[in-house]
Amino acid sequence: MHQIDHYINGSSLAAGDRTAPIFDPGTGVQTGQVSLADQGEVDRAVAAAAEAFQSWGRSSLSTRQRIMFAFRELVAAHRQELAELVSAEHGKTIDDALGEVQRGLEVVEFACNIPHLLKGDFSEQVSTSVDTYSVRQPLGVVAGITPFNFPAMVPMWMYPVAIACGNTFVLKPSEKDPSVSMLAARLFTEAGLPDGVFNVLNGDATAVNGLLTHPDVAAVSFVGSTPIAQHIHETASAHGKRALALGGAKNHMVVLPDADLGDAADAAVSAGFGSAGERCMAISVVVAVGDIADDLVDAIAKRVREIRVGPGQDPRTEMGPLVTSQHLGRVRSYVDGGEAAGATLVVDGRDVAVDDCPDGFYLGPTLFDHVDTSMDLYTDEIFGPVLSIVRAATYGDAIELVNRNPYGNGTALFTRDGGAARRFQQEIEVGMVGINIPIPVPLSYYSFGGWKQSAFGAHAIYGPDGVHFYTRQKVMITKWSSTGPASVDFRFPAG
Ligand code: NAD
Repeated sequence: MHQIDHYINGSSLAAGDRTAPIFDPGTGVQTGQVSLADQGEVDRAVAAAAEAFQSWGRSSLSTRQRIMFAFRELVAAHRQELAELVSAEHGKTIDDALGEVQRGLEVVEFACNIPHLLKGDFSEQVSTSVDTYSVRQPLGVVAGITPFNFPAMVPMWMYPVAIACGNTFVLKPSEKDPSVSMLAARLFTEAGLPDGVFNVLNGDATAVNGLLTHPDVAAVSFVGSTPIAQHIHETASAHGKRALALGGAKNHMVVLPDADLGDAADAAVSAGFGSAGERCMAISVVVAVGDIADDLVDAIAKRVREIRVGPGQDPRTEMGPLVTSQHLGRVRSYVDGGEAAGATLVVDGRDVAVDDCPDGFYLGPTLFDHVDTSMDLYTDEIFGPVLSIVRAATYGDAIELVNRNPYGNGTALFTRDGGAARRFQQEIEVGMVGINIPIPVPLSYYSFGGWKQSAFGAHAIYGPDGVHFYTRQKVMITKWSSTGPASVDFRFPAG
């Protein structure tokens, strides 16, 4: 069985006693086991990163750029292998996994050019013979804690930016699919990154809490579910660390009566069931406004019935399994509960059967109509292939409904009316907005972040906000005068 340890100080570190199983979700078979760090391993990882920071924090921008470019080439050359690792432990299709590697790679490319964003400001002669300038300096050892659903991309939202800014990094990936991060660490070493700059600490809550309270960790970034995001933000902040914690989501797609029906149905199905709904930007609620509802439900249902479910490694598969049997049980319980609560079950995925994979963690795509906002189906983040249709009488009602939801990660509007789109952009209380685009994930030179219960902290992730998060500003005020000695002066300087 495949054994996954830690990657600390440039090499694999053998494990302690605690482990967790790794499954192939497509077959339900255990394929490996991952070490779960205790405080001793947390201390070793942080100590290695702290030691490495002594020189990496002072390394030249050109050195960092050269290594980041080399890493970029290695990730690009290994993209297939990285995608296969993602698919083997997460279950998503290889095509989808290749897409996630590509989106992560774009952040690495952004990081290659980071010196441009590390330039400071300079003001000459702010007072007589006095100049002012600012620089941005790294924080030190920073930690990243990431979820199972994008095991390649989400860590890459963090570590390329942090490392290019001069920090050293301890990554605690999801214990459900850690292998891709181990390969990334080996590629970084091959690219010439000094030992200890990038470390992978595998584990569960023990490792996370060890990092959150460790005195030598300067900042923590987190992506995962809302209750854990809140815990991370509060605990890290209480221990004096800079914290950024992205949480869960319930993303609405509003469809107006004038929308292109075919486009809207395609988008709802792609964004609702891609990656089996295990995306933080998945559409989980379609808000059908006015008289488009019946036709829209029919168009979506027709497409949903045609989705081919199977193992992620089969090129014919469109939708793979869920990540674990526990998660499958949880998502199924929402389907049972939705039916019992009186929502109309238009397509029932519970009886899906996949050839040769009787023990895989499969749930077929499931569609509910007439979902009420008081039902668990609507209030909870299900994180599976379950799409709910909520009907709204007017556009105003739809906007109000989206804004009442406690989450605010992503949302989308489908319409042909520019004025309606403009109103949506202005009034909607959500961090990322798509107009005729169902999954509005910003490219790497913007920053990614939700609002309300979908994000805690003052920053968004990657892009310019990532640079601000992983650096702190220092301002210098200097006086070089050749006009003779100054005299004692008790007035507050005023120019
Ligand atoms: P999760 O919150 O269960 O786990 C995330 C990380 O936290 C993992 O590394 C896990 O080991 C750790 N963790 C879990 N329980 C912990 C505890 N009690 N104490 C300390 N650490 C703990 O999330 P998940 O199931 O891996 O991922 C799915 C969630 O992530 C969904 O809610 C999804 O919306 C969210 N997500 C959000 C974004 C975003 O950008 N907002 C992106 C991807 C995923």
